[in-house]
This record gives sequence, structure tokens and C-alpha cells, in this order.
Amino acid sequence: MAGEPQGDCLFCKIVQGEVPATLVRATETTLAFRDINPQAPTHVLVIPRLHYPDAASLAAAAPSVAADVLREAGEVAADEKLDGQGYRIVFNTGAGAGQTVFHAHAHVLGGRGLNWPPG
Ligand code: 5GP
Ligand code: ZN
Repeated sequence: MAGEPQGDCLFCKIVQGEVPATLVRATETTLAFRDINPQAPTHVLVIPRLHYPDAASLAAAAPSVAADVLREAGEVAADEKLDGQGYRIVFNTGAGAGQTVFHAHAHVLGGRGLNWPPG
């Protein structure tokens, strides 16, 4: 069922404590943890505790949780002192755009110059 934990999902395993992660923030509805393969000095992933395969399906099914993810992305940026210098929030959606984990997540990237458009 939508939103239920998926046994084969890495980020559901992180939510359930079955896979370790370096947490930086947690709320009732979200977790934020450092990416294992950082692409910038700050690279944090913000996820809903509930399983949805991508950001759009999360927003369609649970809009208040989607808002929580965005708010937490901003809080991460503030905690990491990125809000003055600029940062990027990315939701890769679909394999063709580089999505590899099909549990909705925001990448919060900053701490270096960020080119536009991205690759
Ligand atoms: P995507 O490619 O789906 O947009 O992002 C998935 C992200 O998850 C990648 O940036 C990848 O480095 C990260 N990742 C993959 N496995 C793990 C893990 O076990 N722990 C953490 N913290 N990040 C992971
Ligand atoms: Zn999941």
C-alpha cells in the first residue's frame, strides 16, 4: 500500500534503523542524513518516513509531508550555514534523471559554487 514500508527499499531500512546513517535532523514525518557519497561539502538527503517512489507521488498522496520535506531542507541549509551563500534542493525523478533510490528524497547541496544548468 502507498506509504507502507517496502522490504527492498534502502531508505525504508534507514527509517527502521536496519541500515545505519549519519542523521542530522529528525521530525515526526521526516529524516535528514548525510549522503554516503557526497557531491559537495554539504550533501544531505531529506526523506519522508513514509515510502513514496518519488517527489511527485509524495506530493500527490501526502502534500503536508511533502511540505515537511521542503521545510526540513531549508532547516538543514540554515543549520549548515548555507542560506547566505546559496544552495540547491534537487529531486532526481526517474532513472533517466539519475534517480537510483526509489523512495522520495531531496538532496540539499552546498558549500561550493554550483553551476547552472547542472549536468
Ligand atoms: P538518487 O540517485 O536516487 O537521486 O540519490 C540517492 C542517493 O543516495 C545518492 O546520492 C547516494 O550516494 C545515496 N546513497 C546510496 N546508498 C546510501 C546509503 O546506504 N547511505 C546513505 N547515507 N546514502 C546513500
Ligand atoms: Zn522506502
